[in-house]
Amino acid sequence: MTASHAPASVRPRHLLAIQGMPAAEIVRFFDLAETYVAQNRSPDKNTSLLRGRTLVNLFFENSTRTLTSFELAGKRLGADVINMAVAVSSIKKGETLIDTAMTLNAMHLDVLVVRHPESGAVRLLANKVNCAVINAGDGNHEHPTQALLDGLTIRRRKGHIEGLVVAICGDILHSRVARSNIHLLNALGARVRAVAPPTLLPADLARLGVEVHHRMETGLVDADIVMMLRLQTERMSGQFVPSVREYFHFFGLTREKLRAAKPDALIMHPGPMNRGVEIDSEVADDIKRSVILDQVELGVAVRMACLDLLTRPAPATGAI
Ligand code: ASP
Repeated sequence: MTASHAPASVRPRHLLAIQGMPAAEIVRFFDLAETYVAQNRSPDKNTSLLRGRTLVNLFFENSTRTLTSFELAGKRLGADVINMAVAVSSIKKGETLIDTAMTLNAMHLDVLVVRHPESGAVRLLANKVNCAVINAGDGNHEHPTQALLDGLTIRRRKGHIEGLVVAICGDILHSRVARSNIHLLNALGARVRAVAPPTLLPADLARLGVEVHHRMETGLVDADIVMMLRLQTERMSGQFVPSVREYFHFFGLTREKLRAAKPDALIMHPGPMNRGVEIDSEVADDIKRSVILDQVELGVAVRMACLDLLTRPAPATGAI
């Protein structure tokens, strides 16, 4: 049997997007991740569940949290983990994305984790390979594992997600984190608000059932969760805000603006944070309100759950 002729019964599943994922599937990831949270807090963190399996992290964009946590997740489950440095690979010599993927595929990988600046690139690649593919962020489209870890963070802190008011604030237009979170929070029954200047809002938000606000003072009223986003200048062509100073004045999260939210509202941020741009240090470092480091911790457990579920033998169901 050649790699390209695997029988349907062993066709891999992928994790490409949250859009379309049923609530029960999301909760399945959460519940399994809970077991890995406990494992990660114990002195002996490693298991041999994925012994003999190979995981390749193929990142065409920079990453700190996502890359490190996928590497840790793979290693804690006993897999062989390789981080492909795009800067020193043949991609720099002009090899296409598909050729790179097919080359890696020929080495009998089990899981390929891909980050790419173009929306849709990861799905394209998933259609060409025999291993499971996880989208670690594609352009401004989706970042499913980020939304899963954000959802788990909220569930652990608040006990539930249904009925919570979640204000997602900042550069929503360029944010795959916002898009994945909107789908996840909608599926689990939260009330989602988008708070941003009109220049940083995508056109399709109302269709997604999101309440739009252009002022933090109104958008944060009675919010249970305040999720801040970075200005993603690397995806901007032109000027989207007059100046960073003015942006911070109107949209930067400060203690004063936070007063509009519920007294026990939690502050979230996917990282990397730009202090003094979208968030003030006083609130980012408030240990009673900020769960930014919880998000990082849970990211490892969520990614272990993803690797575990995607490598289980399953009938041919295609993408999750
Ligand atoms: N780390 C997140 C992402 O890769 C958020 C960000 O970069 O601002 O999308």
